[in-house]
Amino acid sequence: MRILIIEDDATIAANLYDFLEAQGHHVDAAGDGITGLHLAVTQAFDAIVLDVGLPGMSGLTLVRKLRDEAHVDTPVLMLTARDTLDDKLEGFARGADDYLVKPFSLKEVEARLTAMYKRGSGRVTTRLLQAGTLVLDPKTMTVRFAGNEVKLPPKCLRILELLLREPGRVISRDEIERLVWGEVQETSDTLRSHLHTLRRALTAAGGYDPVETLHGVGYRVRTADA
Ligand code: CA
Repeated sequence: MRILIIEDDATIAANLYDFLEAQGHHVDAAGDGITGLHLAVTQAFDAIVLDVGLPGMSGLTLVRKLRDEAHVDTPVLMLTARDTLDDKLEGFARGADDYLVKPFSLKEVEARLTAMYKRGSGRVTTRLLQAGTLVLDPKTMTVRFAGNEVKLPPKCLRILELLLREPGRVISRDEIERLVWGEVQETSDTLRSHLHTLRRALTAAGGYDPVETLHGVGYRVRTADA
Protein backbone atom coordinates (compact mmCIF):
# COMPACT_ATOMS: atom_id res chain seq x y z
CA MET A 1 0.00 0.00 0.00
CA ARG A 2 0.98 3.63 -0.45
CA ILE A 3 0.41 5.17 2.98
CA LEU A 4 0.51 8.81 4.06
CA ILE A 5 1.20 9.57 7.73
CA ILE A 6 0.10 13.01 8.97
CA GLU A 7 1.35 13.33 12.55
CA ASP A 8 3.26 16.13 14.32
CA ASP A 9 4.67 14.00 17.14
CA ALA A 10 8.10 13.10 15.73
CA THR A 11 8.48 9.92 17.79
CA ILE A 12 5.06 8.51 16.88
CA ALA A 13 5.56 9.49 13.22
CA ALA A 14 9.00 7.82 13.08
CA ASN A 15 7.71 4.65 14.75
CA LEU A 16 4.82 4.42 12.30
CA TYR A 17 7.05 5.20 9.34
CA ASP A 18 9.69 2.61 10.23
CA PHE A 19 7.17 -0.10 11.09
CA LEU A 20 5.01 0.33 7.97
CA GLU A 21 8.04 0.58 5.69
CA ALA A 22 9.49 -2.59 7.21
CA GLN A 23 6.18 -4.33 6.36
CA GLY A 24 6.80 -3.48 2.70
CA HIS A 25 4.60 -0.39 2.36
CA HIS A 26 5.57 2.78 0.52
CA VAL A 27 5.31 5.53 3.13
CA ASP A 28 5.21 9.34 3.00
CA ALA A 29 4.89 11.62 6.01
CA ALA A 30 3.85 15.17 6.84
CA GLY A 31 4.27 16.93 10.21
CA ASP A 32 1.49 19.49 9.86
CA GLY A 33 -2.03 19.69 8.46
CA ILE A 34 -1.35 21.99 5.51
CA THR A 35 1.50 19.89 4.11
CA GLY A 36 -0.53 16.75 4.80
CA LEU A 37 -3.58 18.01 2.93
CA HIS A 38 -1.41 19.08 0.00
CA LEU A 39 0.17 15.62 -0.26
CA ALA A 40 -3.20 13.90 0.15
CA VAL A 41 -4.76 15.79 -2.77
CA THR A 42 -1.79 15.94 -5.14
CA GLN A 43 -0.57 12.35 -4.81
CA ALA A 44 -2.28 8.98 -4.86
CA PHE A 45 -2.38 7.04 -1.58
CA ASP A 46 -4.20 3.86 -0.62
CA ALA A 47 -4.66 4.93 3.00
CA ILE A 48 -3.99 7.89 5.30
CA VAL A 49 -3.07 7.84 9.00
CA LEU A 50 -4.22 11.17 10.42
CA ASP A 51 -3.60 12.67 13.86
CA VAL A 52 -6.45 14.81 15.21
CA GLY A 53 -4.27 17.37 17.02
CA LEU A 54 -2.06 19.00 14.38
CA PRO A 55 -0.44 22.44 13.98
CA GLY A 56 -1.73 24.58 11.11
CA MET A 57 -4.95 22.69 10.52
CA SER A 58 -6.61 20.11 12.78
CA GLY A 59 -7.11 16.56 11.59
CA LEU A 60 -10.88 17.06 11.71
CA THR A 61 -10.71 20.11 9.43
CA LEU A 62 -8.29 18.29 7.15
CA VAL A 63 -10.56 15.28 6.63
CA ARG A 64 -13.55 17.55 5.96
CA LYS A 65 -11.60 19.52 3.33
CA LEU A 66 -10.29 16.30 1.80
CA ARG A 67 -13.82 14.94 1.37
CA ASP A 68 -15.95 18.05 0.73
CA GLU A 69 -13.56 20.32 -1.17
CA ALA A 70 -11.00 18.05 -2.82
CA HIS A 71 -13.44 15.12 -3.30
CA VAL A 72 -10.70 12.64 -2.41
CA ASP A 73 -12.06 9.43 -0.92
CA THR A 74 -8.82 7.77 0.23
CA PRO A 75 -9.59 5.82 3.45
CA VAL A 76 -8.57 7.74 6.60
CA LEU A 77 -7.60 6.20 9.96
CA MET A 78 -7.74 8.89 12.65
CA LEU A 79 -5.47 8.90 15.70
CA THR A 80 -6.35 10.78 18.83
CA ALA A 81 -5.02 11.19 22.33
CA ARG A 82 -8.44 12.22 23.56
CA ASP A 83 -10.58 9.24 24.26
CA THR A 84 -13.92 10.97 24.09
CA LEU A 85 -17.01 9.88 22.27
CA ASP A 86 -17.48 13.42 20.93
CA ASP A 87 -14.18 13.35 19.04
CA LYS A 88 -14.94 9.96 17.63
CA LEU A 89 -18.38 10.94 16.40
CA GLU A 90 -17.06 14.19 14.98
CA GLY A 91 -14.29 12.36 13.13
CA PHE A 92 -16.75 10.01 11.47
CA ALA A 93 -19.18 12.80 10.67
CA ARG A 94 -16.37 14.59 8.84
CA GLY A 95 -15.41 11.59 6.76
CA ALA A 96 -12.90 9.46 8.67
CA ASP A 97 -13.24 5.71 8.07
CA ASP A 98 -11.78 4.34 11.28
CA TYR A 99 -10.36 5.51 14.57
CA LEU A 100 -7.63 4.55 17.09
CA VAL A 101 -6.94 6.03 20.51
CA LYS A 102 -3.34 6.65 21.60
CA PRO A 103 -1.42 4.73 22.76
CA PHE A 104 -1.97 2.10 20.07
CA SER A 105 0.04 -0.88 18.86
CA LEU A 106 1.74 -0.60 15.49
CA LYS A 107 0.36 -3.97 14.45
CA GLU A 108 -3.14 -2.69 15.20
CA VAL A 109 -2.56 0.32 12.92
CA GLU A 110 -1.47 -1.91 10.07
CA ALA A 111 -4.40 -4.28 10.60
CA ARG A 112 -6.89 -1.37 10.49
CA LEU A 113 -5.23 0.13 7.40
CA THR A 114 -5.34 -3.19 5.57
CA ALA A 115 -9.01 -3.70 6.48
CA MET A 116 -9.92 -0.18 5.31
CA TYR A 117 -8.00 -0.66 2.09
CA LYS A 118 -9.75 -3.95 1.32
CA ARG A 119 -13.15 -2.47 2.08
CA GLY A 120 -12.47 0.57 -0.05
CA SER A 121 -10.40 -0.71 -2.94
CA GLY A 122 -13.37 -1.74 -5.06
CA ARG A 123 -15.06 1.58 -4.49
CA VAL A 124 -12.08 3.91 -4.73
CA THR A 125 -9.91 2.68 -7.53
CA THR A 126 -12.23 1.28 -10.16
CA ARG A 127 -14.64 4.17 -10.65
CA LEU A 128 -14.05 5.73 -14.05
CA LEU A 129 -14.37 9.51 -14.17
CA GLN A 130 -16.46 10.29 -17.18
CA ALA A 131 -18.28 13.04 -19.06
CA GLY A 132 -19.67 11.91 -22.42
CA THR A 133 -16.85 10.17 -24.30
CA LEU A 134 -14.19 11.85 -22.17
CA VAL A 135 -12.98 9.18 -19.74
CA LEU A 136 -10.22 9.22 -17.10
CA ASP A 137 -9.24 5.96 -15.39
CA PRO A 138 -7.90 6.92 -11.92
CA LYS A 139 -6.29 3.50 -11.53
CA THR A 140 -3.96 3.98 -14.48
CA MET A 141 -4.33 7.78 -14.86
CA THR A 142 -4.99 7.33 -18.56
CA VAL A 143 -7.38 9.53 -20.54
CA ARG A 144 -9.43 8.75 -23.63
CA PHE A 145 -11.60 11.19 -25.53
CA ALA A 146 -13.89 10.06 -28.36
CA GLY A 147 -12.00 6.76 -28.22
CA ASN A 148 -8.58 8.36 -28.70
CA GLU A 149 -5.87 8.24 -26.07
CA VAL A 150 -4.85 11.65 -24.68
CA LYS A 151 -1.32 12.13 -23.32
CA LEU A 152 -1.14 14.84 -20.67
CA PRO A 153 1.57 16.26 -18.38
CA PRO A 154 0.96 15.45 -14.65
CA LYS A 155 -0.47 18.87 -13.62
CA CYS A 156 -2.84 18.94 -16.60
CA LEU A 157 -3.95 15.42 -15.74
CA ARG A 158 -4.63 16.50 -12.16
CA ILE A 159 -6.69 19.52 -13.34
CA LEU A 160 -8.76 17.27 -15.59
CA GLU A 161 -9.23 14.79 -12.75
CA LEU A 162 -10.62 17.57 -10.51
CA LEU A 163 -13.00 18.76 -13.24
CA LEU A 164 -14.16 15.21 -13.98
CA ARG A 165 -14.88 14.31 -10.36
CA GLU A 166 -18.07 16.34 -10.71
CA PRO A 167 -18.85 17.12 -14.35
CA GLY A 168 -20.95 20.25 -14.66
CA ARG A 169 -19.80 21.70 -11.33
CA VAL A 170 -17.93 25.00 -11.66
CA ILE A 171 -14.57 25.00 -9.89
CA SER A 172 -12.94 28.37 -9.16
CA ARG A 173 -9.42 29.28 -10.19
CA ASP A 174 -8.39 29.49 -6.50
CA GLU A 175 -9.75 26.03 -5.75
CA ILE A 176 -7.97 24.43 -8.71
CA GLU A 177 -4.70 26.15 -7.79
CA ARG A 178 -4.95 25.11 -4.15
CA LEU A 179 -5.64 21.50 -5.06
CA VAL A 180 -3.07 21.20 -7.86
CA TRP A 181 -0.22 23.40 -6.57
CA GLY A 182 -1.04 23.46 -2.85
CA GLU A 183 -1.55 27.23 -2.80
CA VAL A 184 -3.10 30.03 -4.82
CA GLN A 185 -0.61 31.16 -7.48
CA GLU A 186 0.58 34.77 -7.66
CA THR A 187 -0.66 35.27 -11.20
CA SER A 188 -3.25 33.45 -13.24
CA ASP A 189 -0.64 32.69 -15.94
CA THR A 190 0.36 29.30 -14.50
CA LEU A 191 -3.15 27.90 -14.51
CA ARG A 192 -3.94 29.53 -17.86
CA SER A 193 -0.95 27.94 -19.59
CA HIS A 194 -1.78 24.50 -18.14
CA LEU A 195 -5.41 24.85 -19.23
CA HIS A 196 -4.21 25.84 -22.69
CA THR A 197 -2.11 22.66 -22.92
CA LEU A 198 -5.00 20.56 -21.59
CA ARG A 199 -7.53 22.05 -24.02
CA ARG A 200 -5.25 21.72 -27.03
CA ALA A 201 -4.63 18.02 -26.28
CA LEU A 202 -8.34 17.32 -25.69
CA THR A 203 -9.41 19.19 -28.83
CA ALA A 204 -6.87 17.24 -30.90
CA ALA A 205 -8.25 13.95 -29.59
CA GLY A 206 -12.00 14.64 -29.44
CA GLY A 207 -12.58 17.37 -32.02
CA TYR A 208 -13.76 20.02 -29.56
CA ASP A 209 -12.83 21.62 -26.25
CA PRO A 210 -14.93 20.12 -23.40
CA VAL A 211 -13.67 22.64 -20.80
CA GLU A 212 -15.89 25.67 -20.35
CA THR A 213 -14.71 28.99 -18.89
CA LEU A 214 -17.24 30.95 -16.85
CA HIS A 215 -15.60 34.35 -16.69
CA GLY A 216 -14.94 35.55 -13.17
CA VAL A 217 -16.37 32.31 -11.75
CA GLY A 218 -14.27 29.34 -12.81
CA TYR A 219 -14.15 26.28 -15.00
CA ARG A 220 -16.20 23.17 -15.61
CA VAL A 221 -16.26 20.23 -17.93
CA ARG A 222 -19.33 19.63 -20.11
CA THR A 223 -21.48 16.77 -18.85
CA ALA A 224 -22.17 15.44 -22.36
CA ASP A 225 -20.51 15.55 -25.77
CA ALA A 226 -20.94 18.70 -27.83
CA1 CA B 1 -0.58 15.75 17.64
